[in-house]
Amino acid sequence: MHPLMMGSLSWIEYQQRLQEEDAIVLLPCGALEQHGPHLPLGTDALISTSVAQGIAEQINGIVAPTVSYGYKSQPKSGGGQHFPGTTSLDGNSLSQLVRDVIRELARQGATKIVVLNGHYENQWFLTEGIDLAVRDVGNASALQVMRVEYWDFLTPDILDKVFPDGFPGFALEHAAVMETSLMMHFHPKLVRLNLIPDVPPSEFPLYDMFPQCSEWVHASGVLSSAKAANVEKGELMANHVITGISEAVRQAFQVKVSVSTMMK
Ligand code: ZN
Ligand code: MN
Repeated sequence: MHPLMMGSLSWIEYQQRLQEEDAIVLLPCGALEQHGPHLPLGTDALISTSVAQGIAEQINGIVAPTVSYGYKSQPKSGGGQHFPGTTSLDGNSLSQLVRDVIRELARQGATKIVVLNGHYENQWFLTEGIDLAVRDVGNASALQVMRVEYWDFLTPDILDKVFPDGFPGFALEHAAVMETSLMMHFHPKLVRLNLIPDVPPSEFPLYDMFPQCSEWVHASGVLSSAKAANVEKGELMANHVITGISEAVRQAFQVKVSVSTMMK
């Protein structure tokens, strides 16, 4: 039983947290998607869930069950749909799922919801789901929703430390240094260090093709090498992202002092 995980709470505990504390509810979103030979299929969902748990500890929030399926993997950001295990939703399905969950949380009395994204391709479909849910509950509702990609909180000073030889960009970071280091920090037993491929960064044309071109992508599924990943980088990024997003949440929802901070 984890007091911050919605699925661990009874309805009475959950209701109390909403009514007495106006607790912030976090909805982590990820994907079931290949992440090379060295990382698990659930990487995007695992990282967004761990980041959400870290934030919930800082702001005394509640973490709703993770949306563990995501929008279709694209060759230039996730390797593409041709890898076994990459199991994806149509965009409309993802939007409607997120819309339903947010509307339900709001119906129960949640007024502050954070949608925390860990899968690049999800972005606009999460935006659509949030927008429709806000429209569903109407202007009279107190509902406010924040949408955030955790990697946007990796500021240039942190990126300089993690990528001393230059940052390749977040799209090419699929199954590479950022995600591998974060997984070494959050879920070390799920990283197969001896299987990290040593490949040069992928080079892609300036356009997309449909059906997707699987030959654009290295057979391993990684878009650049994770050889430079380590647990220190993972801890540095995790702490920075969790602190930064927690601060942004307090600011966006104008929460003054969290209960967990007061108790320390
Ligand atoms: Zn990923
Ligand atoms: Mn992804």
